[in-house]
Amino acid sequence: MGDLQRVTVLGAGVLGAQIAFQSAMHGKDVTAYDIDDTALEAGRARLQAIVPQFVADAGESLRAAAEQAVAGIRLSSDLADAVGSADLVIEAVPESLELKRAVYERLASLAPADTVFATNSSTLLPSQISDATGRPDRFLALHFANHVWRNNTAEIMGTPQTDPTVYQRVVAFAKEIGMVPIELHKEQPGYVLNSLLVPLLNAAAGLVLTGVAEPETVDATWRIGTGAPAGPFQIFDVVGLRTAYAISSARPDPGSQAWAAYLKTNFLDAGKFGVESGEGFYKY
Ligand code: NAD
Repeated sequence: MGDLQRVTVLGAGVLGAQIAFQSAMHGKDVTAYDIDDTALEAGRARLQAIVPQFVADAGESLRAAAEQAVAGIRLSSDLADAVGSADLVIEAVPESLELKRAVYERLASLAPADTVFATNSSTLLPSQISDATGRPDRFLALHFANHVWRNNTAEIMGTPQTDPTVYQRVVAFAKEIGMVPIELHKEQPGYVLNSLLVPLLNAAAGLVLTGVAEPETVDATWRIGTGAPAGPFQIFDVVGLRTAYAISSARPDPGSQAWAAYLKTNFLDAGKFGVESGEGFYKY
């Protein structure tokens, strides 16, 4: 058993619930914190909804263990109580720099001095938060992918101040909860995965927008040419076209704006959001 045994997840949202579940499934003592009782109830429902998704992927034989893992997760809306004896706090609160910094400033005084803090932020760099934690040497990013148990990468990214021993303890923790640790040697926006994926998706969008090829042709080229199981437009459907639209429309460059308009006109306005709605570039 590793030394990071008592885990508190901050934010029982989409990712926080999955991280709590994955940790509990692998024998960690897990507490999930959210801001109030309403949010906690939503978190409890999210945790329970993970069980059938997990069973669909992992098999019926693991249902009882999954239900037991969910039942064993302690829920709290009292931050001092939630983190008071934590070895590791994994923060999965909404993606806002101000909000995250405010959470860490409270956390800094409530958690024991030796507790390790990890952020699951997708787009912020840990060095933007580090000074708010009160323990820059014990703070780093531990980034999970949606459907944690299936897409089981854990990207681990420190700041120049992160203690290498702490970094390796978090690598060990990731392995203990069934993840494949992806060790980054320096800070990189988008980590490894999105540094590869985002340019691929942008290039695919460009080929369609300029009329070079149809989405199906682009996907077939990628699949056949590289042996990958899915092409970029199949990936767009999985990510969700509302998310793709939100990202593109927030970018000022003409290519992103044109792609946002294309998604809105051809898909969002027709209620086609990708896999989640049964139709996007493909039907499901
Ligand atoms: P979400 O909106 O589903 O969940 C956020 C949760 O945080 C909610 O339950 C909310 O009540 C709670 N919260 C709000 N304010 C809080 C506070 N002050 N303290 C504690 N909890 C608070 O968001 P999400 O999609 O789970 O994303 C959370 C983090 O995970 C973000 O940093 C995001 O970048 C990252 N992430 C998300 C995904 C994804 O696919 N959704 C993948 C990887 C990483």
